Amino acid sequence: MKKTKNNQLWIAIIAAVIGAITTGIVDFVKKLPVLSTLKTVISFLYHSLLSFLTFGISVWVIISAIIILWLIKKLFKPKFEPPSYLDYKEDRLKAWLWKWDWNIDRYNKITVSNLRPYCPNCNTKLMYQDDWRASRANCPRCNLSFSNYNGFENIAEIESLIIDNIEKKQEGR
Ligand SMILES: [Zn+2]
Repeated sequence: MKKTKNNQLWIAIIAAVIGAITTGIVDFVKKLPVLSTLKTVISFLYHSLLSFLTFGISVWVIISAIIILWLIKKLFKPKFEPPSYLDYKEDRLKAWLWKWDWNIDRYNKITVSNLRPYCPNCNTKLMYQDDWRASRANCPRCNLSFSNYNGFENIAEIESLIIDNIEKKQEGR
């Protein structure tokens, strides 16, 4: 009889404990959405702040690195020394005397510019005649006339010869 009473007591205690736990779980679950939302917001803010700070440091590092690299480049950049062939500005490559200038762009690329022909007879600058053949030149002084059939010198060919002369000289040919 005493044993039965004890059993009933234990059942009552277990029921009370289960009830309390269940209520606790229910309450916890009820509170959970609010709690998890808050947690998400805090987490989001924390990560945003962290990534913002990291980004800020990265930008600062990148800007510093760019400035340092630019300074190094500026300080250690080999000074451009114009090649000796820049004195070579006139030549009689075929029959005509040709004169030209050198153009150096901001990347130090050197090209022939303002290439102009002179009369082989009197060294006066020849005048191009833009007729339908576009390949005629006259001397305004001695009236010599040149055409494709009569000693006309092609400007593109002359430029190629100038460059070839420089390359041959540089290669020691
Ligand atoms: Zn002439």
